This record gives sequence, structure tokens and C-alpha cells, in this order.
Amino acid sequence: MAEKAKFSRRGFFLNGAVAGASVAAGTLASPRPALAQAARPPTQWSREVDVVVIGAGAVGLPAAIVAREAGASVIVLEVEKDIGGHAITSGGNIPLGGGTSAQNKHGIKDSPDLLFRDLTDWSVVQPNGFPDYRYNDREIIRAFADNNVATYDWLVGHGVIFIDKAPDALGGNSVGNSAPREMHAAAMDWPKVQTGKPADPAARTTTSSGNGLMRPLEAAAREAGVQILLEHKMVALYREAPNANRVIGVAAGNNGARLDIRARKAVIIATGGSTGNVNFRRMFDPRLTEEYCGLGGMPWSDQDASGELAAMAVGASLWGLYNQTGEFGIKLTKPGTIGNQYGYGSLRWLPGSPVFDRARATGLSVYNWQDVITVNMLGKRFYDETGQGFTANDYNSIKPYTQGSYLNAANITYKANNWINAAMAGIGDGHNGGGPIWAIFDADAVTRENWVPAPPNVDIDSGFFFSANTLADLARKIVMKYQRVPMPPDNLEQTVARYNSFVDSGRDDDFGKPKPLHKIAAPPFYAAWATPTIHDARAGLRINANCQVMDMNGQVIPGLYCGGESAGGFSQHGLARAICQGYIAGHHAVLA
Ligand SMILES: Cc1cc2nc3c(=O)[nH]c(=O)nc-3n(C[C@H](O)[C@H](O)[C@H](O)COP(=O)(O)OP(=O)(O)OC[C@H]3O[C@@H](n4cnc5c(N)ncnc54)[C@H](O)[C@@H]3O)c2cc1C
Repeated sequence: MAEKAKFSRRGFFLNGAVAGASVAAGTLASPRPALAQAARPPTQWSREVDVVVIGAGAVGLPAAIVAREAGASVIVLEVEKDIGGHAITSGGNIPLGGGTSAQNKHGIKDSPDLLFRDLTDWSVVQPNGFPDYRYNDREIIRAFADNNVATYDWLVGHGVIFIDKAPDALGGNSVGNSAPREMHAAAMDWPKVQTGKPADPAARTTTSSGNGLMRPLEAAAREAGVQILLEHKMVALYREAPNANRVIGVAAGNNGARLDIRARKAVIIATGGSTGNVNFRRMFDPRLTEEYCGLGGMPWSDQDASGELAAMAVGASLWGLYNQTGEFGIKLTKPGTIGNQYGYGSLRWLPGSPVFDRARATGLSVYNWQDVITVNMLGKRFYDETGQGFTANDYNSIKPYTQGSYLNAANITYKANNWINAAMAGIGDGHNGGGPIWAIFDADAVTRENWVPAPPNVDIDSGFFFSANTLADLARKIVMKYQRVPMPPDNLEQTVARYNSFVDSGRDDDFGKPKPLHKIAAPPFYAAWATPTIHDARAGLRINANCQVMDMNGQVIPGLYCGGESAGGFSQHGLARAICQGYIAGHHAVLA
């Protein structure tokens, strides 16, 4: 029977007075910007163009090129030292379908209608019960489905080379279940941001990579005459009246200097999302507190919600918020590497990368989670370490799949996939987030995994990796900014002793790990950062089919556009949605 809520003076706790709480929820300072204020337009502009695009990523460069080739003068503002955004760090797997020439060449049947119905299919659910596509905005998906083929042809026409093989289902997600749609941008000889070097010659036409997408687009943009202003951060939008009429320009900062740029036709927000902004992301999930500091794509570029906040300050609405909270895809992941801050699975920063000084370590890839136990701040296990994160529905992941059939959900076998939720459950101290998660292992695990537990593989200086000759000393050493409470040495010793007894008995009585295999007994012992990583934004500004930003009354904000991870209404990981919406926004901004 559910426990009845008791409400008496004696049982009532004042906010922040929860027993044992060392830091009350939300009191750690966020380094991210506060809500932008509506800015009064300047009397004099520093620059004037037809279109200002904010962000040089997967939305920004296509939008800029399209607008420029349609005759507009275009400035792209990019806060980082280089173009690319998360797109250039990506795997370059681009799910464009609907009947592309690549699909036709390989006899794959697809159409805009099939794609549209896939991405709005109410009946598709994950093994944990969460629906992927049910809450997508039909108008936005229709525009996407109708523009896939043209976007694919446009990419090919602007220098992007795809690996010459049949589209498949590898590397992206939430692309629909009816047909293989995944295309792969060939790495060619563009240097990869992860290494600073081009791919091996033998792999240049067979390996997919984000640089194979973004460097050709950068070249096309420059050739077309797009002006790209690096290290320029948009800090505010200008609207004619605080919440009325057109958006007419932007304010940008550049190394302490300020520019006011007038946009005669349009401002396109292509800022890549909000997951790096603690306060913003907690609107969707209050658990996502400061310790989730390992965003996929960082430190190449952040997602600080600056586009969303600036648009909200001139009246924009958010949209499709379930798509951010729903537990599917790779919005939140188990770390693929441990012992470093940025542990997102498919992105390993190597010395030689232009941002290695910020990444600081490459991380240790975990091939077998039997080799470690994962513990919380108190040194206690919380779940089967081999447990998985959320999954995604793509071609062939529901078999058989029939669009719109109740059997799609009925045929799914329930699986909790709850390692992430258990990791984020916390230690009961009143803090919303789960705190750091540590992978604990011994010297034998190092041998089995073939790890070298030293810099540049692990980040000792910033407190993401510790070692000691005893478990008690290891627990005492774990001091870093997100470890809110000391790890009691006894706890860690008892946790490991109990786990080792499970190896003897062949049964994990606490969390049902399938046959625990290896004791943790051979010094030295290690603790490596293994906290969940955040990846995508799938909710953002409300847009219509033309990618025009809408206000809280459902009215278009004239002159303001958005696409990709800063836009809402579309649950899909990544590049296809972003490129296609950049393509749509660039056209509409100039030609409408
Ligand atoms: C490691 C990794 C692998 C991925 N692999 C794939 C994949 O294989 N397939 C797939 O489909 N998707 C993949 N993705 C996702 C995909 O890269 C993104 O969804 C996509 O790049 C989003 O496009 P965007 O234009 O919205 O944002 P981005 O490409 O991130 O571009 C946003 C740009 O805006 C800039 N910016 C932000 N704020 C400001 C400001 N205020 N002023 C000026 N500039 C600003 C940023 O610095 C950035 O350059 C991957 C992502 C990562 C991180």
C-alpha cells in the first residue's frame, strides 16, 4: 500500500534543512549566462547585412550558404575559434531518406510520406515504454520529410562526399523504422578535430566523420562569399519593439569589443542547443545538476542555451518539451570512457587535437563492464554495471514493424535500461542530482582491459582519476569539486568485500549482475570518473514549417528563424534534422 503523505508541524522541514545535506539543491553557482534581457536597438549599427546566422555548425553553414546563393549578404557569428560545432566532432552519419538518389541506387524503397509517417508513428515505443515519435510536431516533420531529398542533393552539390555504399541503420538514431536511411560523410583528407590529423589514407573514403561534412561546407561558404566571424558570441537579439514587430539585428561580443549587426532580412539561430546550461536543462529534468559536466561535443563547442535565452527575451516560446525528458536515444548516456571529464562514447580527444588542452585526457574505454564496479559518492554500488542506458528505434529494431500497428508496442520485450536512472538517484542528501559516479577497479582489471592508467589517458590533476594501494586510502583521496561529501573508507571496503563474495558465489544478490566475474583484490586500486554524460537537446524554440520562431501566442516573430538542437518539436538525434532545417531556414529567410 502506498504510504500516506503525512503533513504535521513536526514532520515539516524548512527548505534546505534536510538532514545531512551539505549543499542545498541549486545553490552551486552556475557558470552559464542568466536569462538574457530584451535589448533596446542601437541608434547606430557597426555592420549591416541581409542575414545574420548565429553558429557555424550543422544548421548554420547550410543556412548561410543557401541564403548567400539566393543573393543575400550573410554574416555567420561563431563563438569558438573554429567552425563546426558538434557537427564537426560527430560521426558524420546523416540520416536523410524519403527517396534519395543513394537509396534509389541501392533499391531501397522510401518516400516523403513513408518518412513522415515513420517519424510521427504513435505506436513505436522503447523497451522501457517511452515512445520516440509520438510527440513530434506534425508540421515540422512534414517539412523535414518533404525536404530530405533536396537536402541530400544539396550536400552532394556542395562538396560533401558520401561513402559509396547502401544507406544503413548505423550511427544515428530516431530515424524511423521503415527503411535504411543512414548516409555517411567520408572523412577524406580533412584533419579530424579529435587528432588534428587527417584519417589514414586507407580509411579516407571508407570512414565516416563530421569533418567530412563540415570542412566542405566551410569551403563552400567561403567560396560563396559568406563572412564567417570567429570568436564572436551573440549576446542579444534586437527587436523593433520589446515584444513586437521584426527582429532586426544582434549584439555580439568579440574579445571584449561589442558589435551591433543589423540584419535587414533575418536572424537565424543555429546555436546548437541547451544541454550545457545547468538552469536551462533542469527545466526538463531537475536531476541534471552541475556534476553532469561531461557533454558530448565539448570542449570543441558548448550548448549554453544562449540562442534560446536571447529568443525568449524577445518573446519566443519553447516547444515539444517531452522530447527532452523522454528516456530514449542518447540524450543521456553511460560514459564510454572513464577517468576523464568528457567521456561520451564515440568521441576520444587525443593529444594533437586543437582542444586537447581543454579536454586534458583521452579517457579509458571500457570494453567490459565486468571489469569494474560503479559506486556513488558514498562508495556504494547502485546497479548492475553491465546494465545499459537508453536505446533508440531505427530500421530493423522492431521486427516485424508495421507502421501504426498496436503490435509494435505489444511485441517489445520490456527492459528497464536503468543504469542511468539508478546513477542519478543520489545519496538521499536532498540534492537533486546523483553526484559523481566512480568506476572502482584493480591492477588485474588494468591488465585485462589493456589500460595505461596515467596521463594523457586519465585526468589526475582535475580530480577525475585517483589511485592508491589500499581501498581505504583510495576513498580518502577522492576529493574534487563535485564530490559533495567524503567517501567513507569503510563503505568502499565493505562494498568491495561484498562484491568479491558475489564473485565467489557466482550471484549478485544486490543488483542481479549476470554472474560477477572478477574480484577487486590486486593493488593498486583505482577510482575513475564514470558519471553519466549528456548529449543532445531535443527541445527548444517553437518553430513552424519554415523554421520561423513563434511566440507564446502562436504568432511568427518576423525575421527570426531557428533549427537543429536549439529548435523544438522534433525528436531525432542530430545531423539530418539540423542540416535540413538550415536548408529550409536559409531559403525562407531570403526568398519568402
Ligand atoms: C560526439 C558526437 C557525435 C555525433 N554523431 C552524430 C552522428 O553520427 N549522426 C548524427 O546525426 N548526429 C550526430 N551528432 C549530433 C550532431 O552533431 C548535432 O545534433 C548537430 O551538430 C546539431 O547541429 P546544430 O547546428 O544545432 O549545432 P552545432 O553543430 O553544435 O552548431 C552550433 C554552433 O553554434 C555555436 N554557438 C553557440 N552559441 C553561440 C553564440 N551565442 N554565438 C555564436 N555562436 C554560438 C557553437 O559554438 C557551434 O559552433 C553527434 C554529436 C556529437 C557531440
